Amino acid sequence: MAEEAIKKKDNSVQDEWGQICSQLKMEFGETAFDSWLKPLSVGTYSNGVMNICVPTAFMKNWVITHYSDRIHKIWEHKNPSVKKINFVVQTNHSDSSLLKKISSTPTPQGLYVPQFNATSSFNDYGLKDGFMQLSAPLNPAYTFDSFVVGKTNEFACAAAKKVAESRNVSFNPLFLYSGVGLGKTHLMHAIAWHIKQQDPSRNVIYLSAEQFLFKFVKALRYKDTAAFKEQFRAVDVLMVDDVQFMSNKESTQEEFFYTFNSLIEEGRQIIISADKSPTDLEGIESRLKSRLSGGLVADIHPTDFDLRMGILNYKAQQMGITLPEKVAEFLAQKITTNIRELEGSLRRIVAHTQLLSRNEITLDMTQDILKDMLRSIDRKTTIDEIQKKVAEYFNISVKELQSSRRARTVARPRQIAMYLAKQLTSRSLPEIGRKFDRDHTTVMHAVRKVEGLIGEDAALAESVNVLRRALEN
Ligand code: ADP
Ligand code: MG
Repeated sequence: MAEEAIKKKDNSVQDEWGQICSQLKMEFGETAFDSWLKPLSVGTYSNGVMNICVPTAFMKNWVITHYSDRIHKIWEHKNPSVKKINFVVQTNHSDSSLLKKISSTPTPQGLYVPQFNATSSFNDYGLKDGFMQLSAPLNPAYTFDSFVVGKTNEFACAAAKKVAESRNVSFNPLFLYSGVGLGKTHLMHAIAWHIKQQDPSRNVIYLSAEQFLFKFVKALRYKDTAAFKEQFRAVDVLMVDDVQFMSNKESTQEEFFYTFNSLIEEGRQIIISADKSPTDLEGIESRLKSRLSGGLVADIHPTDFDLRMGILNYKAQQMGITLPEKVAEFLAQKITTNIRELEGSLRRIVAHTQLLSRNEITLDMTQDILKDMLRSIDRKTTIDEIQKKVAEYFNISVKELQSSRRARTVARPRQIAMYLAKQLTSRSLPEIGRKFDRDHTTVMHAVRKVEGLIGEDAALAESVNVLRRALEN
């Protein structure tokens, strides 16, 4: 008798769920219903608590954020004894062991690991939980206000601001590219913050190509690609950082191409970054490349001295320290590769000063603290760079420059390169010689020869000057 009552109750719960589903389908549309609500099933019901089974944790979060209030309302209306809806992850598939295995697999190194420990700054900016899952965390320090603009990055920054400020899509996609540590990620986060501040209801998703790939592969494993696609459909602004990571990963590119096209067709804004221009990207399908260059392509050039000075002064001010002009100039001259290193060196100096309770930063101290770094900068960049630049300038290869060929077209550039290495680096003659596979007397001879020629041959003097300027910058 009692058993029958339970069964009856079960059946009525099932019936109610069936009716609720029809209503949800009407309200949210077939696509959303099929992706998110159809896979749900009713579980146990007791003491006014209705358990609903969801196949994955990701879906659970999504359903809670997007549909649970509505489900609860409809159910309560049909059956006032339902006080609470509870979502439980429970797979109906027979491959549950596989699912378990996947979910207990540790996150691959470098994926999903936030770069900083901001306890979910998202919520403060009104991002929905579901999107928090899809989007990577944004660094609160990366805003337009903290982005120092100079000649080398003003175009990219203006393009980023334009995208952030306009509601209508003006160019799509915006493609940002540069070498490492020059501000691509900073600009993308700045766009996201700006849009969220102006209109928290807009769904801005930022993720790296690596995370895109990771999520896609996970969806494939869960046989959940419909849900994967669906997530992107609700996006207003999609940013994918470092797309060069998709090189030679055909199926990810295909999925990305699909997502990309459908978003563009619907007039959603896309922002992409990479380490090269679309045409120079290797291992990326040509149809994707041509899509990527279809909007506005903006590059950030290597920094110049003025921008490095601007950044150092700005960061020093932010840290509340006084950075003597001489020290700033020294750093701006020496640390030219990227802004991350420039920042790092400043932080190192400040940490030392504070640790040793010094009140001022001096040049001697700076040189001492950064000794290793400076040595490696001298060693690493300069001679190689000199060889590369000189070879480029004279239209020969670096190999030829280092070879034993004595033809004037190769020998003269070689001497100039040795001369510049002596002038622009602190390397010794034997060290320079080794880089050219020669001994120190050859280098000494080359230096003297070029010194002499500079006074006699105006064209050669000009070439040396041009090269020197290019290298010093
Ligand atoms: P990328 O993504 O191009 O490799 P990032 O955006 O990560 O470079 O920048 C590296 C570091 O340099 C970050 O800490 C960033 O805040 C800083 N940075 C880059 N460009 C600027 C700039 N113009 N003004 C201030 N800081 C900058
Ligand atoms: Mg980056």
